[in-house]
This record gives sequence, C-alpha cells and structure tokens, in this order.
Amino acid sequence: LTGHKEREIPFNQADSLTRVIAVTSGKGGVGKSSVTANLAVGLAQQGLKVGVLDADIYGFSLPRMLGITSEPQSIDGMIIPPIGAGGVKVISIGMFVPEGQPVIWRGPMLHRALQQFLADVFWGDLDVLLLDMPPGTGDVAISVAQLLPNSEVLIVTTPQVAAAEVAERSGSIATQTKQRVLGVVENMSYLPQEDGSHLDIFGSGGGETVSVRLGNLLGHPVPLLAQIPLDIELRQGGDAGMPVVLGNPTSPAGKAFQGLSADL
Ligand code: ADP
Repeated sequence: LTGHKEREIPFNQADSLTRVIAVTSGKGGVGKSSVTANLAVGLAQQGLKVGVLDADIYGFSLPRMLGITSEPQSIDGMIIPPIGAGGVKVISIGMFVPEGQPVIWRGPMLHRALQQFLADVFWGDLDVLLLDMPPGTGDVAISVAQLLPNSEVLIVTTPQVAAAEVAERSGSIATQTKQRVLGVVENMSYLPQEDGSHLDIFGSGGGETVSVRLGNLLGHPVPLLAQIPLDIELRQGGDAGMPVVLGNPTSPAGKAFQGLSADL
C-alpha cells in the first residue's frame, strides 16, 4: 500500500478514471439504498470494479444490504474496505460508530468524515464509486459537490406525486452545484400481476414528471432510466445481504436492475 496516495489519481480530479455517482432521493423510504446496492452489484456483474460509500449518515443500511459481516481493517494508516456481495467494496459511517448509538454529527464533522473516506480508504483502482446519499438537500449533498465536483447524480423516486415533488427539489440543487444529473430511477413502480398486468400501488407518472421537469430546469435531457417493480424478493434480498440482481437476476426487479446497470 505504500505510495498509494501518490499513485492514484484522486477521485476529485477531472482526469480520475473512476466514475462517481451520487444516488439521491427527496425523502427516505423510496428505495434509494436498495437501488444503490443492486446497481453496485449489477455494475460489478458487468465486469466493473465497484465501490460503495454509504454516506446516508443517519440511515446507513448498505453494509447489511450488501452482506458485510467484517469490520474495515487498518494497515499503514489506510482503511481497507470490507468486500460484500458481488465483490463490491463498502465503507459506511455505520462501521465507525458504536452499535446502537445515533449519529449526531454537524456539517463540519460530516465533511471531514467524507474527506477521510475518500482519501484514507484504500479503494484501489475503481471503475465506479457509488455514494448512497442521505435523502434531501442537506450538508452531505453540499460536501459531496465540493469534494467531488465531477460526480454525477442519479435520482430515485416512487411514482407518487408527493415523492416526485421532493425528488425534483433534491435534483434541482444540481443547478447550483453544477453536477450532471444522469437520470431518474422510478422505484416501486408497480406490482406485477399473474396475468401480466401492472397494479399501480403508488399511482403512476412520478418518474416521468421528475425527468421532464428537471430536464427543462437543467437544460439537458434527464432520462427516466428504469422503472423497478415492487418485488418481495428485492426486500428479502436486501434483508439477507444478497441483492436480488445477484440472488435472482431473472425476477422482475432483478431484470430491471440488470437493464439499468447496462444502460449506465
Ligand atoms: P431508502 O434508502 O430510500 O430509505 P430503502 O432502500 O431502505 O429506502 O427501502 C425501504 C424499504 O423498502 C426496505 O425495506 C426495502 O427492502 C423496501 N423496498 C425498496 N424497494 C422495494 C421494491 N421495489 N420492492 C419491494 N420492497 C422494496
């Protein structure tokens, strides 16, 4: 590991070979972390080297979703990230706070933690680093934009109007941060029925609305990249540390994530 810092081009430089994608949502519970976990594994299935930085400080869930059971190791002052499902490297703030304790950090501490996760973690030569962002437009979003000005943003919403409105707001900060918004993933889009029809449990149109409105606001297309169905296996896979895209790639959600990973 000696010389790692000198050798690797930091993520924040324009000529970094690592693509950094911040996965965001307007509010919690829309499946942002589930999308991050499945996208990470889906990209790894494409042969890419993938890392995930769980920056959802108050609701960290990526270690469980990616089946991490070991602690990060420390060698020569570098933090070695544990490896989860699909060979994805994972670092989460949850690995550094005592279990059961709430994280009550303020902006500057969060900023320093992020800085450390980018500089002191031995990520190796990643093709893609996914950031699981806290929902909304808080301190972490601003820190990420400052520390990783070349990062792109992927927005997760449900079809519901209320979710779409807040998702649009969280995407609109890209006008100030100058980050590129890659597109929108609509999660919990529908419940597939046995006869092949779709039951729109959470309504419909949220993903499309965010895509069109943000496209107009930002002046470039913000495509609706995927519509992920409601799928019991997705929830079970998340709880079991085996993302559905790996556990059952031919399930409705598994297929949707494979498509999303191929399109990115
Ligand atoms: P967020 O990161 O936005 O708070 P999570 O990814 O933690 O959301 O998802 C919230 C809950 O909903 C989790 O229990 C997850 O397993 C479940 N879930 C997410 N997406 C789906 C889906 N498409 N089908 C079934 N359950 C889902």
